Formats: sequence, structure tokens, C-alpha cells
Amino acid sequence: MIERTNMFINTQAQDHQIAGIYKDLDAHLLNLIKTNKINPKPLMICAGSTSSCCAAKGHWTLDLRHNFKKIEFYQSRNEVLIEAGVNMQSLIDELKEYKRSFPIGISGTTGIGYILTGGISPLSRKYGLAIDQIKEIQGFWATGERFSIKKPISSSGKDQLIQWKALCGAAPFLAIITQIKLKTHPLNSLKVWETTLDPKQLAQTISISEDWPNHASLYWVWGETIKAFGVYELKGSYIDDGFNKIINTLPKSNDFRTYLIEDIAQLNKLKFPITANSVNQKKYSEVLGLLGPPLKENSNELIKSLENLMQNRPNASSYISAQQLGGATVNEKNHLSSFIHRNSMWKPWITGSWESGNEEQRKESLIWIEQGWLELEKFFPGVHLAQIHPHLKWHKKEVRAAFKSWLPELHQLKSKYDPKGILLPL
Ligand SMILES: Cc1cc2nc3c(=O)[nH]c(=O)nc-3n(C[C@H](O)[C@H](O)[C@H](O)COP(=O)(O)OP(=O)(O)OC[C@H]3O[C@@H](n4cnc5c(N)ncnc54)[C@H](O)[C@@H]3O)c2cc1C
Repeated sequence: MIERTNMFINTQAQDHQIAGIYKDLDAHLLNLIKTNKINPKPLMICAGSTSSCCAAKGHWTLDLRHNFKKIEFYQSRNEVLIEAGVNMQSLIDELKEYKRSFPIGISGTTGIGYILTGGISPLSRKYGLAIDQIKEIQGFWATGERFSIKKPISSSGKDQLIQWKALCGAAPFLAIITQIKLKTHPLNSLKVWETTLDPKQLAQTISISEDWPNHASLYWVWGETIKAFGVYELKGSYIDDGFNKIINTLPKSNDFRTYLIEDIAQLNKLKFPITANSVNQKKYSEVLGLLGPPLKENSNELIKSLENLMQNRPNASSYISAQQLGGATVNEKNHLSSFIHRNSMWKPWITGSWESGNEEQRKESLIWIEQGWLELEKFFPGVHLAQIHPHLKWHKKEVRAAFKSWLPELHQLKSKYDPKGILLPL
């Protein structure tokens, strides 16, 4: 079915004058794909609709949220099958019924794009990235050919290995995923702490956190002020000594507090030091995610760079944050994904915002993101392509930084599985 109105969560995507929306991947749309009659290309894919890339001016969007909503839990194997229009909140809500959970990110609003682009969760240090939980993937290559692939085992053939590696982290360039099967984990309560920090205290906290056990992770946001959050997974709801040991060593402010949450979706309620959309003025933004190894003794150096950047930020809605990786995200064996920066301990991201319609502010914010990238890439040489920017001039650079030496092979796969450029350019 074709529709011309849209209801995307991302504000920029909302306001694009798009060609229209396909609500199903039916015979008609598949025929257009197979006969190269998508015009203009690329066809935009929308799952959770939270990124600026689920729609583009004058382009068609396939919005999976309408007809791909199935969630099925297999109790005997503790696995869950989700169709591509299921968002992370719905996934967590369903799993809770069975006392199970999944390492979603800091917001339940994101869709399957969160999983397909890697998926960094506050629980990733214990369980791995979201892509590491995938057991089976079904969908259509951008040639229109249907596929169904299981996670390779030691006897799997080379084709299966390469396809799997490409789909886990680079699927948006090659295929339309319709459903995935995922591993789940026991539902445990989480103990959270939060506090406002000054720059020096942030440097200290970063250094300390690099030695934390894998069931603890740090997340910080630098906006109006600096706010740090720690997430600590309990065994059931038993608060062990480890939590107290961690908080005893931390720099703190008067607003330091700890609390218990039942599941990871409740991280939605964290209050960040960022100016939100006002009723009168809609905000647009772009986000660039970087990846880099442990900082060790360089955290003071990093803080100097961040102070410079924050002094020059274009407006109060632009900010820099970071999530912690390490532990299980490093241990993934056999290099079976396109998330190649497995040595990473940090994912900082730079968010540049502007008022809708204010072209000057937009330019300033995009320049600030690029300046931030140049300043921070000495610490964080990789890119996490959670947000993809085919509409911006740095797209080629972000793709190179995301895939490095794996990119030539991805280009070969692109010419095999998307020879007509139906999906995003690589
Ligand atoms: C509030 C918020 C919190 C976030 N927190 C985290 C976090 O903690 N960790 C983290 O890693 N990321 C996080 N992100 C980033 C987020 O995971 C990415 O932006 C992700 O791409 C969003 O996916 P989506 O399905 O919601 O968005 P969409 O805009 O619908 O999709 C993004 C892109 O993914 C591709 N895609 C989506 N579905 C398919 C499909 N079925 N087949 C092929 N390609 C597809 C398409 O290219 C699409 O344009 C966050 C984003 C937001 C807005």
C-alpha cells in the first residue's frame, strides 16, 4: 500500500517532503526492486524511525512498522523471533513476561536498526553487542532475492560466513531484513547511580571505570553540565558488595544518588543536561558515533579536547556523550561481524542540533561535528555507523572509518547483492 503522509519519530524525517510510503514488501514492491524501477534511488528503510536516514526528500520509504510486528518467544531455547517493525521497548516488554531480557540501548524507542548497526547497550560489556545475539536472519537482498541464514558454525561454508559477517553490522547497505531470531538473557534488576561532575572528576571516573567488572558500565553526557550514569547488573535483585565497592571509589557531587530499576527499558527515564525541543521550536540534529580503545592515562588529555569543543559548541542543544564497551564486546570470536572495532572501550558521540528551517545554524552545527571528529579521532579512530549520513559530505569518510580493511570486500558484496544501488550507498 502506498501512502504520502508520514509519522516518523525523527524530526527531520518527519518534515521531509517524501515521495510516499510503502507499508509492505509485497509482490508489487519486490517487482519494482527486481526490475530496477525504484525511482529515485535509494529506497529508504524505516524500522524504528528514530534516525534521520529513514526518509529523504523526494524518496520512497518502506516503513516496516505497519506489517512486521510479530514477536514470538521460544521458551525451550530462550530465543525470540522478531519481525523488523518491532521496537526495543516492545521486545523488552514481551521478554519480561518470561523473565528474560535483551541488551537494548539507552532508549526503547529505537527499532531493529539498533540491532543491525551493532547495538551498544549498557549491558554489552556482559552480554556483547546486539548483533552478537543474532541466531538467524531472514530478508531480501537488494536484488529482490529472498534469503534465510543461520549463524555459521565451524562446518559452515565460506559464502555463509561472509554473508553473515556482512549482514551483522552492514545490512542497511545490502539487504532488507524482515525478521531475526535472537538469544535472550535472564531478567535481572539494575542498580543505577548518577551524579553531576566537573571535567577533572569526569577524567577520574573514566579512568576508574576502565577496571570495572563486565556487569558495570559508564555512560556520560556533557551538555549544560556533565552528568555521569553507572549501570550495574545485579544477580536477581540481590545487591552485592561489588556495587558498594564501585561507588566508594567514585568522585561525586551533592546530587549523587543511586536507585534500582527493574529492567533496562527504564533507563528511558534518565534526565540528561540537554535543552530539549521546545513547544515553539522544533529541533533537528545529526549524530556522529566514534569508537576507540581504552584511554588509560589519556583521559586528562581527552578532557582538554572536550573542554575546547564544548566552549565552541554552536548552541545549548548540541552535546557530546559516551557509552562504555569492553568485556564481552571484545571477546566475540571468529570476527563474524562488520563491527570491526572490537578493541573499543568507548563510543563517544557528537550531537549537533539546530532549529528547523535555520540553515545557518545547521551549517554551524555540522561544522562543529566535523571539528569534533577531527579533534577526537586521535583517541577514537573508528566510527560506529549507528546513524548513516548518505546526505552529508562526510559519508565516504564515515564508511571508511567504520569498516577499514573490510571495506573492499563489502564493496564486492555490494556489487553482488545491490548492483543497482537500491539501498544506501557504500
Ligand atoms: C534516543 C536514542 C537512543 C539511542 N541509543 C543507542 C544506544 O544506546 N546504543 C546504540 O548502539 N545506538 C543507539 N542509538 C542509535 C540507534 O541505534 C541508531 O540510530 C539506529 O540506526 C536506529 O534504528 P531505528 O530502527 O530506530 O531507526 P530507522 O531510522 O528506522 O533506521 C535506521 C536505518 O537502519 C537501516 N535499517 C533499519 N531497519 C532495517 C531493515 N529491516 N533492513 C535493512 N536496513 C534497515 C536503514 O538504513 C535505516 O535508515 C540511539 C538512537 C536514539 C534516537
